[in-house]
Amino acid sequence: MQSHWSDAEAARVVKTAGTEAANQELALRVYTSQLIGQEQDLVLHGGGNTSVKVKRRDATGAERYVIHVKGSGWDLATIEAPGLPGMWLEPLLAARETLNMTDERMVTFLRSEMLDQHGPTPSVEALLHAFLPQPYVDHTHSAAALVIANQPQASKLAREIFSDRLCLVPYVMPGFKLSHAADEIFRGGGTSSEGLFLNNHGLFSFGEDAKTSYERILRFTTMCEEYLIAQGATLAPPETGTKIETHPPAVLALGRALREWDIFSDDPVLDLRSSSTITRYLSLPNLENVANRGTATPDHVIRIKPRPVLGAAGFSAADWGEAIKDYVDWYTAYFDRNALHADEPKTMLDPLPRVALLRGCGIVGIGRNSKEAGVAADLAEQTARIVLSAEALGEFAPLGEAELFKMEYWSLEQAKLRKEAEH
Ligand code: ZN
Repeated sequence: MQSHWSDAEAARVVKTAGTEAANQELALRVYTSQLIGQEQDLVLHGGGNTSVKVKRRDATGAERYVIHVKGSGWDLATIEAPGLPGMWLEPLLAARETLNMTDERMVTFLRSEMLDQHGPTPSVEALLHAFLPQPYVDHTHSAAALVIANQPQASKLAREIFSDRLCLVPYVMPGFKLSHAADEIFRGGGTSSEGLFLNNHGLFSFGEDAKTSYERILRFTTMCEEYLIAQGATLAPPETGTKIETHPPAVLALGRALREWDIFSDDPVLDLRSSSTITRYLSLPNLENVANRGTATPDHVIRIKPRPVLGAAGFSAADWGEAIKDYVDWYTAYFDRNALHADEPKTMLDPLPRVALLRGCGIVGIGRNSKEAGVAADLAEQTARIVLSAEALGEFAPLGEAELFKMEYWSLEQAKLRKEAEH
C-alpha cells in the first residue's frame, strides 16, 4: 500500500489552518484522515476512525489538552475539521478509574466533555483513542488485516508478522470495555509499541505526528498483505466495474420473492455484482458452510446481517420463496435464542437477508434504497476476497453468533440506524 503523503500538500493545509498550533495539527489530522478514507480497502463504509490530541485554552485562559475524534455521520474520505469534535482530555482520562459504564452513559459522558455541544457524537472508540498517549491515532478495518484477524490462531500469526511492534488485543466488543482492555494491554508492557492488532476487528497505529501514524497504518496493512503472498494466500485486489446493470431471471425472481414479504416500505433494491474473484468465491465447495460462519468484522453485521441467503442461477421466484422462508425461520430463531441472554429487552429487526449469493451468477446486495443495496454489495464483495484468502491461509473463523447478535442489537447501533432512517 503506497503512501500518498505530500510535503507540499501538508504545508498548504497547515498554512490554510491559520497561526494557532492546535488548528494546524487538526488540519493535518483532517488531511491524513482523508488519505486513509480514499483508500477504499482500508475503511469500507464507516469502518475506521482517527484522532489527534492538541492543546487549547479553556474559558479561564488555562491551556488544556483536547482530543479531536472522528464524529459519527462523517466519512473519512471527505471529512473536514467539524467532523472531528473536540473533547477535554483530562476528564476522559479520569474514566480509566471507572470500572463500569454502559455504552449509552459513555456517549452522554463524551458529549458532556465536548467543546462545542452542537458537534457530532464522537466515535464509540473515543476513549480508546484518548487512553493512548501519542498525539495521532489511526484505526482501520483493512481487508488484509481481517484475513489474519479471523484466523483461529490470529494472535500467533500477528506475533509472527509484527513481532513486538504491535500489542495484541483479544476480541472485546467496541465501546467502553474495549477501551479499557486495550489500555491495560498497552500499559502492561506495550508502551514501546507502534499500534494494536485487534482480533476479529482491525488495526490501530499511533505516532508523534500525522505522517508517522498514517504511514504506520499503511505499513502494518502491507505487512499483512506480504505475509499472505508469502503463504500462498494472496488477497485478491479490490475491483471496480463489477456491478451488472441488467439483471438475469434469477435476480428478478429474487426481487419478486422479497416483495411478497411486504416488509420494506418500497420495493427492495437489488445490486448485482460479478467478477472473476466473486466467481471463485461462489465456486468454493464449502460455500454454504463458510458463508454461514459470520461477518468479517463485527460492524458489518449491522448492514448485512450475520449470514446471506443462498441460491443459484436457475432459481425461480418459488425457489427463492422457500429459501427466504428458511432464512426468516433461521433469523427468528437466532434472535430468540440470543435475545434470551441480553441484559435488556430487544425488539427484532426485519428478518430479511441483505445479501444473496447466487452460484453461477453473482452476489446481490439487498436494500430499501440503492445506497443500502450498494453498501451491502460492497461489503459482500470484500467478504468474498477476505474469505478466499483466509481459507487459503488456514480457516476463516469469524466471531460466533452470540457476539454478532450483541453488535447487531447494540443499542448504540440501533440508534444510528434510526437516525439514518429519518434522513
Ligand atoms: Zn473499529
